[in-house]
Amino acid sequence: MGFYDEFLYEFTCPECGGELRWWQTKALDCGLERYEPGDPVHCEGLVLERAKVHVYEHCSNCKTWYDAYAVIEDGRFVRVEDIAAERLD
Ligand SMILES: [Zn+2]
Repeated sequence: MGFYDEFLYEFTCPECGGELRWWQTKALDCGLERYEPGDPVHCEGLVLERAKVHVYEHCSNCKTWYDAYAVIEDGRFVRVEDIAAERLD
């Protein structure tokens, strides 16, 4: 479908100091939902209680790609963690 959902989490690119904000995923409903911390996250009509969702984003400044996980606890999106750079030369 080419759609995705996004999670808001501010992260400073360690390569160049650029700011990343919206992390994309194709693991959920891909309905162009935008989740902020504290929001309930749904997938196929169900609210996720506890999950880790693979997300990715790239720095628009230096083009470094980052893989990470959006953490959902007690039915709410709380943060993005395990952020790791993926170098494309
Ligand atoms: Zn950067």
